[in-house]
Amino acid sequence: MRDRIRELVEKVKNELVEMRHHFHAHPEPSFEEYETTKFIANKLKEYGVDDIRVGCGGKEAGVIATIRGKSEKPMIALRADIDALRMAEENESLPYRSKNEGVMHACGHDAHTAVLLATAKVLSQIKEELPGSVRLIFQPAEENAAGAKEIIKAGGLDGVDAIAGLHVWAYYPSGVVGFRKGPFFAAVDMIELYVRGKGGHGAAPQFAVDPIVIASNIILALQTIVSREVDPIEPAVVSICKIEGGTAFNIIPEEVKLVGTIRTFSPQTRERVVSRVEEIATNVAKAMRGSVKFVDYYSTPALINDSKFTEFASNIAKELYGENNVVEADLNMGGEDFSLYLEKVPGTFFLLGTGNKEKGTDKPHHNPNFNVDDDALPRGVELLVNIAYEFLRRGSS
Ligand SMILES: [Zn+2]
Ligand SMILES: [Zn+2]
Repeated sequence: MRDRIRELVEKVKNELVEMRHHFHAHPEPSFEEYETTKFIANKLKEYGVDDIRVGCGGKEAGVIATIRGKSEKPMIALRADIDALRMAEENESLPYRSKNEGVMHACGHDAHTAVLLATAKVLSQIKEELPGSVRLIFQPAEENAAGAKEIIKAGGLDGVDAIAGLHVWAYYPSGVVGFRKGPFFAAVDMIELYVRGKGGHGAAPQFAVDPIVIASNIILALQTIVSREVDPIEPAVVSICKIEGGTAFNIIPEEVKLVGTIRTFSPQTRERVVSRVEEIATNVAKAMRGSVKFVDYYSTPALINDSKFTEFASNIAKELYGENNVVEADLNMGGEDFSLYLEKVPGTFFLLGTGNKEKGTDKPHHNPNFNVDDDALPRGVELLVNIAYEFLRRGSS
């Protein structure tokens, strides 16, 4: 079967790259992936995929589809995220650069979408020999962590026994694959602090309570949580990334807004860091005659890969590409809402290297010059097809 799959992947290569370029030229931001969704649904129809459901979360964005093989069960899900970012592309000379001004596929989700479509095509071609079913999840809104929960609500995981997904990775050489058992991506909290003071004249601070000075003290005090309160071998980050306050050079404002993020792995550390941010901010403000309103938009749990499934998938990668091309991925303080699927079913999220200096595809993700090495993408297809086929054949990982 491996040779047969390789042959079919070889045949789908040109279409895969064409589709990637199409998505790159027509990026749509989170939960506005309407044209992308139509394109995906049409392709799946063309490939003869049995069951195609469009939309989730009350929007016509995202697709949940199923390829039925010889039997309904077991069922493995494969997921791609399909959204782009609100940022201007600077790849001036790229023939397929973004045609939607101010929106760009700068994370590689164009590649994920094309890879999963090509995977669907290959799997449809071997449908008669599939000892189970494959659920295809084209998830909208990964970047703002809103999509996975809507896919789950829409029944995306119903009947699913395991799940796999990949992210292209500019930091690995093209074609190198990275796996990690257990904790992989961090839990994400988005926090907002409203520091209240009392407005007044910049020349008469004695009649005011200056929220800018209070906010400054809070920001510095928060830095002691990770350095002084968290176990040094436990990863954690507290970053204040946005400060909003004031209107003129001589007016002490009423309020300053601080926006930031907390990244942790264990639920205990998460709870502790979040509550300490609130306590420190509240009490620093109190000591300085102000007050604080604290809001925590808890976003995604830590992504925890199933060890057995990850071992199973990485062994397939080693058999296909050799030990040298398969690495152990590092812990990542970024977030990925694939974590929500992994809370429900076992599976693995892995990285596919697309970094190539000569081709200029080694820029960081979310950089205005980001791009993906197309030559690495067939590996993504071959891996997903083999992982799905092997899982269904064995009935487990
Ligand atoms: Zn991203
Ligand atoms: Zn991404």
